[in-house]
Amino acid sequence: MNPVSGNTTAHVPIARVDFGRVSVLFGEKNGKYPDGNQVLIRGSDIRAAFDTPLVSNYIGPEFDATELVVMGHVHEDHMTGLHRIPRAEVYVHEADLATIRSWDGMFAAYGNATRDASAMRAMLERDFFYAPRPDARGYADGATWDLGESRIRAFHTPGHTAGHCVLVVEPEGVAFIGDIDLSGFGPYYGDACSSLHDFRRSLARLPEIPAKIWVTSHHRGVYTDREHFLRDLAAFTAKMDAREQRLLAYLKASPKTLEQLVELRVLYPQGYESPWAVSAETRTIAQHLAEMVVDGKVKRDERGVYSAA
Ligand SMILES: [Zn+2]
Repeated sequence: MNPVSGNTTAHVPIARVDFGRVSVLFGEKNGKYPDGNQVLIRGSDIRAAFDTPLVSNYIGPEFDATELVVMGHVHEDHMTGLHRIPRAEVYVHEADLATIRSWDGMFAAYGNATRDASAMRAMLERDFFYAPRPDARGYADGATWDLGESRIRAFHTPGHTAGHCVLVVEPEGVAFIGDIDLSGFGPYYGDACSSLHDFRRSLARLPEIPAKIWVTSHHRGVYTDREHFLRDLAAFTAKMDAREQRLLAYLKASPKTLEQLVELRVLYPQGYESPWAVSAETRTIAQHLAEMVVDGKVKRDERGVYSAA
């Protein structure tokens, strides 16, 4: 996909599925990053959208008529269509609000002070139509929006970002679970505002959120079978323990510093490089080490060298 701003129409047909007033329009490769899946709700009074992935730039009037955007969380790939709808009201969980309102807020949320901020911003503007949204408003856990005959309800599920939420449309029972994307990669908690601890709690809470249909931002797309959803959720959750086991294996081989563990990689293949890789690996591994120190599985000496307990 080669997105361009302005009055574009889709040059490939956009696959979609409809559940009552709720529609899911699939991004390229089933919404694989950098694209995503667009949820639109045709309320009897208000037309709403959940996030705005790249595909939103190809939908046309059906997206451009959006009056209300409720963000499940704030990351570059979820705010790409906001430039098309400057008059729409934009709501963000209060813990992600600073991220959407300014570039400084976004850069702080990513949390890599060594990265070249201006080069990164230029890349986001080029590839993701990045534009901050200083007019965005905050919401809290349990917030609701009435669209007429349907209603949106927010469930705070932090971890991926501090303000990540699951957004449920009633009465359809469609839950947009965002970047709890159930992908084979596993949970991502590599940003400064991410939390492994919170992610574990959010994954445990997810089955209790009342829903019949689950929609991920990326890749997996739509689940209509609860058993299938729960199976993939269990596999996704198990990725966190697999990472812990991998770190323990590294430390059983020999004691190592955080930097040495980052070199070995736990998220990405060894040798894989991206502007995010070292920062995300460092944040991810540091959180696992801290957890394992508390659990007594790992010891840290005064020089900052970790070993298996
Ligand atoms: Zn994200």
